[in-house]
Amino acid sequence: MKKLYYKDSYLNRVETVITEIKSVDKAVWLRFDATIFYPGGGGQLPDKGTLNNLPVLEVKEENSHIWHKVANDVDWKPGQIVEQQLDWTWRYYNMQQHSGQHLLSRIMETEDLKTVSVHLGKDHTLIEVEGAFPDEQQLLALEQQANDLLREARPLVIHEVSRQEISRFPLRKPPGTWRQIRVVEIMDYDYSACGGTHVKNTAEIGYIKWLGLEKIRGHARIKWLIGQKADAHLRKIFQNMQNVKTELQCEPEQFAERIATLKNEVGNLRKENKVYKRSHLHLRAMELNKAHENSTKAVVAELHPEEISYLPDLAKILAAEYAQVAFLISQDRFCLVSPNEQHLSTSEFMDNYRDTLGLRGGGPPGFVQGIIQKADKELIAGCLKVAIEK
Ligand SMILES: [Zn+2]
Repeated sequence: MKKLYYKDSYLNRVETVITEIKSVDKAVWLRFDATIFYPGGGGQLPDKGTLNNLPVLEVKEENSHIWHKVANDVDWKPGQIVEQQLDWTWRYYNMQQHSGQHLLSRIMETEDLKTVSVHLGKDHTLIEVEGAFPDEQQLLALEQQANDLLREARPLVIHEVSRQEISRFPLRKPPGTWRQIRVVEIMDYDYSACGGTHVKNTAEIGYIKWLGLEKIRGHARIKWLIGQKADAHLRKIFQNMQNVKTELQCEPEQFAERIATLKNEVGNLRKENKVYKRSHLHLRAMELNKAHENSTKAVVAELHPEEISYLPDLAKILAAEYAQVAFLISQDRFCLVSPNEQHLSTSEFMDNYRDTLGLRGGGPPGFVQGIIQKADKELIAGCLKVAIEK
């Protein structure tokens, strides 16, 4: 079986002949006299694409043969001519990632950051390195160095060599035990034994952006965006920046200063608001106390819906400063306070009137808050009168 991706990684459509068909667990796997489908390996993900316009569900390598998984609803025959077509966007993305990774691994090695594993993912590329843990400045400098090398448009050259010949290449890491070795050279810069698919020259990688750094198994794992993903990331950042510019009404250089000013203003407003809120609560408590002074033994009031968050504070002021039993309601919430347990035990009141008033809730001695089902002020006042006079 000819592995056409080894010779020409830009070949994305080809006619081939089925040489073998096998069925495994209701799936059909096809083998051809040649294939352009890379089965994955060396950190690179497998190709996607179609066979006679029908999707390839999976590609894998077994004993040096490449198998292509397809749905079992089509009658395939040995000897049949089939058109293979790659999902080129996906393959080209993977070519950019793989060539970019070789370049980065080499550049990082100049700083004694030796690659121990790579993952060329669908969103980003992760390179795990050993050596002293890098810092942000170092990685930004490496990013710039990488992009300088991209602009040089250095050719990537593939060498198929025997084991005996391999010593003439200064390989980044020792090759496996194969008889024939494929060396991917970034012209006069990096030499790696690799079976993956690569771009023709470094300019095709496009752009490289360092994105993140984390510690894993005592190593640094560095996250990179390469090629199309780096472009998309920059476009997203630019769009976000435009949105923030509109919101903050200033240029990006002034963002930090503008945010600091706004934070300061918010801090001052919060302080001011605290003062106003306190004085508002005291005035409101005075008002509520006055309205009930001559009528009942307790302040029973239904407050505006927007005062719902004031309930506990208002009730506490009425108990502490006016020695009042207070039952305050807003929306479906209530708060009950008692200045002392002899006057009215809030827990006893809850036990006795829970069902009558449809109350749910609890709290420490002298204070209860919760949900009320029947906000009937007359009924509540009546219940409180009986409880207090007892
Ligand atoms: Zn490789």
